[in-house]
Amino acid sequence: MNYKISQKAASLSPSLTLAIDAKAKQMKAEGQDVVGFGAGEPDFDTPQHIKDAAAAALAAGFTKYTPSSGIPELRQAIADKFKRDNGLTYKPSQIIVSCGGKHSCFNVIFATCQEGDEVVIPSPYWLSYPEMVKLAGAKPVILATSDQTEFKVTPGQLRAAITPRTRLFILNSPSNPTGSLYNRDEIKALGDICVEKGVLIMSDEIYEKLVYDGAEHVSVASFSPAHFEHTIIVHGLAKAYAMTGWRLGYLAAPEPIAKAIDAIQSHSTSNATSFAQKGGVAALNGPQDHLPVWLAEYAKRRSFAHQRLNRIPGVSCVNAKGAFYLFPNISSFGLSSTDFCAQLLEQEKVAAVPGIAFGADQYMRISYATSLANIEKGLDRLAKFCANLKK
Ligand SMILES: *Cc1c(COP(=O)(O)O)cnc(C)c1O
Repeated sequence: MNYKISQKAASLSPSLTLAIDAKAKQMKAEGQDVVGFGAGEPDFDTPQHIKDAAAAALAAGFTKYTPSSGIPELRQAIADKFKRDNGLTYKPSQIIVSCGGKHSCFNVIFATCQEGDEVVIPSPYWLSYPEMVKLAGAKPVILATSDQTEFKVTPGQLRAAITPRTRLFILNSPSNPTGSLYNRDEIKALGDICVEKGVLIMSDEIYEKLVYDGAEHVSVASFSPAHFEHTIIVHGLAKAYAMTGWRLGYLAAPEPIAKAIDAIQSHSTSNATSFAQKGGVAALNGPQDHLPVWLAEYAKRRSFAHQRLNRIPGVSCVNAKGAFYLFPNISSFGLSSTDFCAQLLEQEKVAAVPGIAFGADQYMRISYATSLANIEKGLDRLAKFCANLKK
């Protein structure tokens, strides 16, 4: 049988971050002493009261279909969160609960983009954005940035990239993979251009709560009613509540877009898991006191890793202001990021994601969502690997 794969599906390559994480976990299972810097998820456990709420819902038989865009209680809790944290007023009908933030991104891109459209994406980018844009038949327009500008696009760059075909600008602050964070003025300047040009912004704010050194996260939707109308916020429970496996994300959009996404979702996944949604309600409405504890721990690891990386001859690393990643420059070694990371895993049993996965071959991504002891061990090994390369 000659299985014919659709052109769109055949053009995809599987997520490299998930692949590297799987390889590291497999090596560990075989008894190898691997240090994993590949993970894109918190190493903390989901807070107990959230688990309890889901377990209670399961025990009570809350196991049937829910409305495809989420239970009213959760959509209200999300609307309350936007009011409380961002000063944004959404009706529950503008909120869609999805099977993870990734699914929310997919829904937004599918509902707004088609053949002939262009989507502006700053690089380094979260690796799924361009693939999703291509699946929708639209064209990713990549704006390159570097560590020289802390991986931020300038208003001039954005303006020059916008054409009459531009549908969407994807903003991800704090950023995966770089950890960079736009400040209030920078976000406003980018938002102003999108408003002026009539371009929608998909603002992926999943790392909102993970910012350091007193820095603030600002939503681009919050500057004016016009900014609000041009913005779709993508968010989720995965990062701030360590709920990656629960598959629970959400978005907030202008009414017509929310309606279109509701229709798409009603014919594809239907609702996110019923009892997981009850956990989501507990997460958003319940105590948030795990966050300062986690943040203090992340901040400690980030400082250590940032300093240790910069002490390795040939490596330079700007400090991150958010998320749980560092994105050191390894270009002085003259290897592609793929070769660098493959040899590092092979020779020193350290798993990290090559920058090329995020559109930036001069770098690698280090996740510090792992213990300080692991970070110390892994970066010592990286230092040894780099010293050998320099010989
Ligand atoms: C983790 C992540 C998401 C969403 O992850 P889910 O597990 O699907 O909720 C979205 N955007 C970015 C940039 C992420 O790193």
